[in-house]
This record gives sequence, C-alpha cells and structure tokens, in this order.
Amino acid sequence: MATKTTMRGATVVEYNKPLVIRDDLPILKPGANQILVKNSCCSLCMSDISGIQGHVGGALPYCPGHEPVGTVAELGEGVRGFAVGDRVGFMPASNTCLDCSECLSGQHRFCSGKTAVGFNGMQGGFTEYCVADPLSTVKIPDGLPDESAAPLLCAGVTAYGALKKVSQFQTGGTLLNIVGSGGVGHLAIMYAKAMGYRVHAFDIANDKLQLAKDSGAEEVFNSMTGDAATFEKTLCTVVVSGAAPAYDLAFKITAKHGKVIAIGAPNGPVAVNILNMILNDLSLIATNQGTKDDLSKSLTLAASAGIKPVYQLRDISQINEGVEDMMKGKVNGRLVYKF
Ligand SMILES: [Zn+2]
Ligand SMILES: [Zn+2]
Repeated sequence: MATKTTMRGATVVEYNKPLVIRDDLPILKPGANQILVKNSCCSLCMSDISGIQGHVGGALPYCPGHEPVGTVAELGEGVRGFAVGDRVGFMPASNTCLDCSECLSGQHRFCSGKTAVGFNGMQGGFTEYCVADPLSTVKIPDGLPDESAAPLLCAGVTAYGALKKVSQFQTGGTLLNIVGSGGVGHLAIMYAKAMGYRVHAFDIANDKLQLAKDSGAEEVFNSMTGDAATFEKTLCTVVVSGAAPAYDLAFKITAKHGKVIAIGAPNGPVAVNILNMILNDLSLIATNQGTKDDLSKSLTLAASAGIKPVYQLRDISQINEGVEDMMKGKVNGRLVYKF
C-alpha cells in the first residue's frame, strides 16, 4: 500500500509548451476493480508528442505517458489475477463499459465509453503512481527487465499487431518491406525477424538505417537517395513512419494485390492514388496497438526471442529535452524515463 499521499510527475499544462514537473500530485486511491501501480519507468512515444502538441485533444492539464512498467502497490476491491508486488505494465484503456461488442470481443481499446490513461487526467506513465484497469494490465515475463519492457507496452505491441496483420497475407520466410526505422520501426524489424520474415528496411536518416541493420534487417535503403523503381516489391509493406512521403513510397514498393499496413500516424490527411489502388488491387489497412492477449503474447515473444529494444535511460526531470529530441527526430530507438 502506498504510504505517501503525493507523488512526482510530468504534467502538460499548455499545448506546445514545456512539461511541468510537479511533486504535489495526489496519489489516487484504487477503486473497485482498479490496480494502483508504482511505476518504475515509462518510455516516450510519438503519440505523447501528438498529445503535447494538442492533436489528440486531451483536456488540460493532464499527465502523459502510456508505456509504463512498475509493480502492483495496492489492489482495489474485487481485483482478481493480480497480487501486490507483481511486475506489470498497462495500456491506456480504462473504465470501459464491459458490455459493448468491442469490450465483449477483447477489443476494449475501441470502447466508446473508455478513458485513456496518459492522454487524460492527472496520472499517467510519467507519474510515480498510476491507477490502472486490470483489463488493460499484463504481467511482465521474467527475463524482461522493466526498461526493456516499457517500449513494448505501446511501440512493441503496435509492431506486433502490424506483423499479425502481415501474417494473414504472407508466410514466414518471405520478404517484408518496413518503412521507418526509429523507435517503433526497429521493434517491427525485431518482431518480423522473430516471426520468420526477411526484412528490407527504409528510412531517410542513415543513423536510423544503421539501427535497422543492427535490429536484423537483411538490407537497408535510404529512400531519399535511392530509386524507388529499383526496390524489391513485397506483398505487404508496413509503414511505421508518420511522414506523408513514407506512404507514397509504400505504394511504390508493394506488389499487386498487396497491403500497405499503416502504423505511422501523420498529423493531417495524406493523399492516396485510388486509381492506382484499383488498378493494382492494393489495400491500405490501419492498425493500432492490440488486444490484451496480443500484448501478453508480444511480451512473451520478446522474452523468448531475445527482443531487446534499443533505449536510452534518463531521469524524469529531463523529459523536456526528450520531447525536443523526439520532435527533431534525434532519438535512436526509445527514450525510457525512470523516477
Ligand atoms: Zn465497451
Ligand atoms: Zn504510443
């Protein structure tokens, strides 16, 4: 049980302004069917940046962070399956209705009634404690340190979810194109390799291409300097980059009857050539995160296949430098913050 009543945490007070670190945030009491988690670390995601920029629409002020890992500090009434001291991580969806078709089919992150930890409210991954929904909470497998697990809570499960979509269309052993080799991209490459795919990776930054190579890509290509006409086409192309030209490239390197699988979220609309899609039987499929089962399986796969995210560990007091680095594309891998 938490003996403290206040905690340290990063808050978004104004959009597009530095976050404010506070030490007087109240530690919430877990209600019925809620878990209080003492966060040990949380990594910074591009969706956090979108939130800080005001694109996600979280009401101000709020506490960001949705890739948290920690230990169970206290259980609310009626929680089953967890014990105080369990090492856990949790996804944002909370307070879901448990009664709509999304909730009943394991897709509760799409429940219209949900709230999202890290995008609303005065607690998140970048606060010392956070109340989590057991439906969105999973145990972290032994052998996966907290700092390695944190980036898997959103980036990892998102990559895994995309690869699950790929597996509906192409079998292991085949070649897969992955566009964008940053924080999520290098994990997509690692998961693709663990699931038996060969990977060609694309990016516009040579340091990211080196990361792609280190993560297991068979070949890497600079899409700024290379000629798209010479790139090998694959049945599926996973787009991790949120830049509009990444989608343009993806349609050029996807074979007839193929699927462009979208994870990278541009902040505005992106033009697509529907005629080209019709003539070549191409589809654009979007995906985000995954079910709780997907998260559990993606963590187990990471532990057994030795998937280790590349990260830099920093103190929460350095969060604003990290936000700036992310916006400038200067982060190699993931930034993980500890308290
Ligand atoms: Zn629901
Ligand atoms: Zn995220």
